[in-house]
Amino acid sequence: NSVQVSVLGLGAMGTALAGALVKAGYATTCWNRSPGKADELVAQGAEVAATAQDAVLAGRLVVVCLLDHASVHEVLDPLSDELAGRTLVNVTTTSPAQSRELADWAARAGVTYLDGGIMAVPDMIGGPGSSILYSGSAEVFDEYKPLLELWGTSTYFGEDAGLASLYDLALLAGMYVMFAGFAHGAAMVAPAGVTAREFAALATPWLAAMTGAFEGFAAVVDGGDYTVAGQQSLEFSSLDHLLAASSDQGISTEVVGMVQRLIRRQIDAGHGEESFARIIESIRQPG
Ligand code: NDP
Repeated sequence: NSVQVSVLGLGAMGTALAGALVKAGYATTCWNRSPGKADELVAQGAEVAATAQDAVLAGRLVVVCLLDHASVHEVLDPLSDELAGRTLVNVTTTSPAQSRELADWAARAGVTYLDGGIMAVPDMIGGPGSSILYSGSAEVFDEYKPLLELWGTSTYFGEDAGLASLYDLALLAGMYVMFAGFAHGAAMVAPAGVTAREFAALATPWLAAMTGAFEGFAAVVDGGDYTVAGQQSLEFSSLDHLLAASSDQGISTEVVGMVQRLIRRQIDAGHGEESFARIIESIRQPG
């Protein structure tokens, strides 16, 4: 591979990303604020740069994987002259607004910018199940697709640099609420002497099967008609028993109470007979 790549930031994730590049034969120069983090990569064939400036100068493509938005600016602001004319792929986790701000900063500096959101933990990089979401420069995505695919399945969402982060956070929203639901269920059965592991054995196939309902909900939401036949109604989806059983067990009702409030607002507005999918309207219009 003739592309010279630089990787700034050798935390757990940056190290995994750089490792995949080295393994694939890319000439890779690494830099990290604290020294000593590159030893293993150097043993595998990477170069190490003493300064971020040296690293940027060594690569046509500069990959940045630092802690957050502030650290990206801290490292890159003094290097805008060196970065001009190069390509920047920033996979540091940032908010959509922060990604857009970095894209604007890059445009002013004459840097082509692609933003990435990593849907994987470091051990997954380069393996099955690793997925990375991108937005920003379409040319960068197209040109470097084979390299990006070394890290995981790469999906491009558009020129607006904030989109990758938006999708990333939307998927994490689904994940966190599901995790909270699992934790709630485990807490419910714990007083009955059920271990969390035993509960997990039941919850895993159940929740996996329930994801099959997304498509039906999505069709109703996109169709915009919550009265369409064959839907579980909001009235039917009362969580009263669930809340009462949770209270009886002496545990918090916050997780299920949150869902009940979303349902309740739609019922109170006179939509009780309509599809459960209508809870999205409670989310779209905060009460
Ligand atoms: P680590 O905490 O392991 O590494 C953080 C890195 O940022 C280190 O290289 C650290 O340098 C560097 N850094 C922090 N502040 C500064 C600064 N002010 N100036 C220069 N360098 C700085 O984090 P990860 O590698 O796990 O994560 C990196 C990014 O990847 C984050 O944005 C994270 O959200 C994202 N990510 C991580 C995932 C994971 O599972 N780990 C999953 C998905 C995304 P030093 O060694 O000197 O401290």
